[in-house]
Amino acid sequence: MSDGPVLSHRGSLVSESRQLLARVRNVMAGADENQAQFNQISKLIATYMTAEVCSIYICRSDNRLELYATQGLKASAVHNTFLRVGEGIIGDIAASGRPFALADAQAHPNFAYRPETGEEIYSSLMGVPILRGGRVIGVLDVQNRTQRDYIDEEVETLQTVAMVLAELIAGGDNAVQREASALDEESTNPLRIEGILLSEGQGMGRAFLHSPRVNIEKMVANDPTLEHERLQHAFGDMHVALDEMLAEKVLLKSGEPKEVLETYRLIAEDAGWLKRIEEAINTGLTAEAAVQKVQNGIRARMGQTADPYLRERVHDFDDLAHRLVTHLMVENGDALAKRIPDEAILIARSMGPAQLLDYDASKLKGLVLEEGSRTSHVAIVARALGIPVIGRVQDLVSRVNEFDVIIVDANHNQVLIRPDEVARNAFEESIGALEKHRQRYVALIDKSAVTKDGVQVDLSINAGLMIDLAHLKNSNAAGVGLYRTEIPFMVRSKFPRVDEQTHLYKQVLDNANGKPVVFRTLDIGGDKVLPYWEIENEDNPSMGWRAIRVALDRPALLRRQLRAMIRAAAGRELYIMFPMVAEVPEFIQARAFVDIELAREKERGAVTPKQVRVGVMLEVPSLAFQLNALCPLVDFISVGSNDLCQFLFASDRGNPRLADRYDMLSPIVLTFLKSIVTTCDKANVPLSLCGEMAGRPLEAMALIGLGFKRLSMTGSSIGPVKEMVLGMDMSEVQNALRTLFDSPEHSLRDALTLLAKEQGLSVNAGA
Ligand code: PEP
Ligand code: MG
Repeated sequence: MSDGPVLSHRGSLVSESRQLLARVRNVMAGADENQAQFNQISKLIATYMTAEVCSIYICRSDNRLELYATQGLKASAVHNTFLRVGEGIIGDIAASGRPFALADAQAHPNFAYRPETGEEIYSSLMGVPILRGGRVIGVLDVQNRTQRDYIDEEVETLQTVAMVLAELIAGGDNAVQREASALDEESTNPLRIEGILLSEGQGMGRAFLHSPRVNIEKMVANDPTLEHERLQHAFGDMHVALDEMLAEKVLLKSGEPKEVLETYRLIAEDAGWLKRIEEAINTGLTAEAAVQKVQNGIRARMGQTADPYLRERVHDFDDLAHRLVTHLMVENGDALAKRIPDEAILIARSMGPAQLLDYDASKLKGLVLEEGSRTSHVAIVARALGIPVIGRVQDLVSRVNEFDVIIVDANHNQVLIRPDEVARNAFEESIGALEKHRQRYVALIDKSAVTKDGVQVDLSINAGLMIDLAHLKNSNAAGVGLYRTEIPFMVRSKFPRVDEQTHLYKQVLDNANGKPVVFRTLDIGGDKVLPYWEIENEDNPSMGWRAIRVALDRPALLRRQLRAMIRAAAGRELYIMFPMVAEVPEFIQARAFVDIELAREKERGAVTPKQVRVGVMLEVPSLAFQLNALCPLVDFISVGSNDLCQFLFASDRGNPRLADRYDMLSPIVLTFLKSIVTTCDKANVPLSLCGEMAGRPLEAMALIGLGFKRLSMTGSSIGPVKEMVLGMDMSEVQNALRTLFDSPEHSLRDALTLLAKEQGLSVNAGA
């Protein structure tokens, strides 16, 4: 069958859509008062879309949708009919940010009947969200008496008109904007909003809105051919700029941000994206408006997904769309350049890594995002640059004004907007105190961590990015007690080849300068998702197919990684550690692959490591019950207390509701750890602990009291923990603990805090 008729039908729809847009623009340019403009527009839409009804709903700040104008429903319902976001089909459209097209709307389970509107005689309904800056500010719908199936092109047309309407609702200084805006009396008051920590640190500065609410002046085009040319031009310019940036940023100290940028530039080449923008121009929009429309669609379709990889791609597309619009506007002569304050806090809904690198990092005191996760690319780059970041701050962008004073307090998961004098002073004091602590820790760099009663404790760092290795030098730590190899895998777009991995591990060893580095083999699965690794959805991913389980089922993956480690450590010492081992046979199987790879390298005549030590992470409780069998087989053991405790208490470590439910300093944990220390000591197996608790002074004091002599922690914790070690008396803590193991208490935290106080220890420093 030929597709001629479909094409010509589509062609006529496109030209109708253009005509409709031109008429809507004329109404908007006219001198009529606002309500009259909305009335005329709803009438125009109903006529052009051959619908009996066209209604415009506007979001109010109390999260209700007000029927603002209608053609076809009862006029008396206007300004009197309200629906909550999420209520009825209109509310569903607003909640999901997605279009709905229903031939029989009344049969829909969420249909909410409003008798005052007289809508019971209409069967079908097609509605689209009115979006501005990615936020739903209203809903536009049409209704028909007969049951009819709306086609995709009609939905597209309604979406295009909704974009133009968004400008009428939010643009200029009309009354609707003032009423509909979420910015209300709050906008000058101090606010404290909680978020999640994406990059450690604190900073104060003036708000700088990353995406200045770009006002696209002209939404409707006069000449589509010209718009296509402008798009091609701007797209070419954007590519050149991205290439240049990539070449420049190669100079970055760490390899990972460059990897991120490369992935990101590839997205710009996604032909589907460009094609959709071209199609939007065909419907009558300017190039800028077309980019925005396609971006709205991407956000609507992908923004809701729980898949972290897809969510990150939405940010990358946001970044590109913003870049493209900027190129179009610059070409147009529209002034965009704004001066960033010398001490700036960047404010954004989301941000791609390249966008962050566009700024002069020396001026950035912090970054606050409405979205983001710890594994997002922008967070990884920010950490590499030492910029504090808070993410998931609700409604941030609408609550901040340009140049407001902002305090980013990432360490306490909060952001203070327009803080009053008391808060500012407190912040400055706390920065001053932190600086004093820092200076104290710097003074300890050359001292070994030895307790008052002469027990030497090795303090190592946990690492995953090259930049983390800087802490090895800064803090003079003993080595890298845990190198999480999955982190470099997570920022790439495909599995690194053996030679790439070899290069990476070699760089790590070179940077460690002879200090031991414990490479943990891939711990993927659970909360660590590789964008290019398809794992079926699991009900309990952290107890699912992850870490050693994946490695043993996919030995090629493990063997390639081991091969790279062996090659990287040629002539040097190599430490390899397997994660999530639940029983001895798993370790035996994994260790056998080390021997196979070593033999292979020897056969090739390659230089092999001077010595290979193979160890295991103790993070699944079952393994603790097979320690007598395990100890003779391993060269070392490291306790992963993060996972060990989540499995011990059956309490998801990532669930904020459970975060305070159980305490690491409970008699249960301490008794359990004590039994592990006793068995390992008896068998003479070196034991360390590399979970988060090792980096907290009070917890570290308890661990040393239990007999741990090696702790591995985040680099910034070395100073506070070392200070505590230097002041503690190991045998006193050991004796005190003996009396506490059988306590029926929920936690021994209070008792241990008292003990620390008696010893004159500062256990809260650095918190
Ligand atoms: C742990 O589980 O304690 C650990 C150190 O590993 P990760 O946090 O990477 O799971
Ligand atoms: Mg773990």
